[in-house]
Amino acid sequence: MKIVVLLGAPGSGKGTLAAELAKEPGVRHLSSGDLLRAAVKNGTAAGVKAKAFMESGNLVPDALIAEMIEETVAADASTEVLLLDGFPRNVAQAEILAGMMARTGLSLQCALLLDVPDEIVIRRISGRRVCPKCGAGYNVDSLPPRVEGVCDACGAGLITRKDDVPETVAHRLAVYAEQTYPLIAYYREAGALVTVDGSGDDLAAKKRDALGKIR
Ligand code: ADP
Repeated sequence: MKIVVLLGAPGSGKGTLAAELAKEPGVRHLSSGDLLRAAVKNGTAAGVKAKAFMESGNLVPDALIAEMIEETVAADASTEVLLLDGFPRNVAQAEILAGMMARTGLSLQCALLLDVPDEIVIRRISGRRVCPKCGAGYNVDSLPPRVEGVCDACGAGLITRKDDVPETVAHRLAVYAEQTYPLIAYYREAGALVTVDGSGDDLAAKKRDALGKIR
């Protein structure tokens, strides 16, 4: 299994691109945010600890998410390319990941940065809607459901995630700038950084570009 670390601001379209890439054989998308939200929903011990951090737009403790990622990776024997989305989120987590890879014989393929200007990021996040039942994601501007407010896939009513409300978004972007942005330099210095332009709405074009760079 090779690891691809996905980098990009909240709202860069990282999760959407990763879900698209994961349609390719052998490619798996592992989202730390999805892992954590599932833990919160299921009321696991980790979920109970993570809840308040997440709702306020802060990062959960490094050890908590690192352990969840390692357990998931260890249980996965069939994946060729694992897209890590949302982990690592800061340099300390990147060091934890490097240690985890060294211990388990995994290698880093690259860190893929989905590059998007700030003003586009803010517009995209405020338009984001999600299905609480099946997890499908939408955007009122770029990816609207067929019927406003209703999930195409399962018919449930769409919601705005608690951490997508404007005050929390501003805070998440500040946390990104302070904690996650330095990872771009970290992986660039390691000679592992590749970049995809994420500013356009053409998902197929972004997918082609990304596939060419992670293979
Ligand atoms: P975003 O759209 O901000 O990328 P995510 O779904 O990746 O959202 O994450 C949602 C929340 O989950 C974050 O605001 C944070 O509280 C928590 N989280 C996700 N990944 C990590 C991580 N690697 N380290 C710490 N907290 C994390």
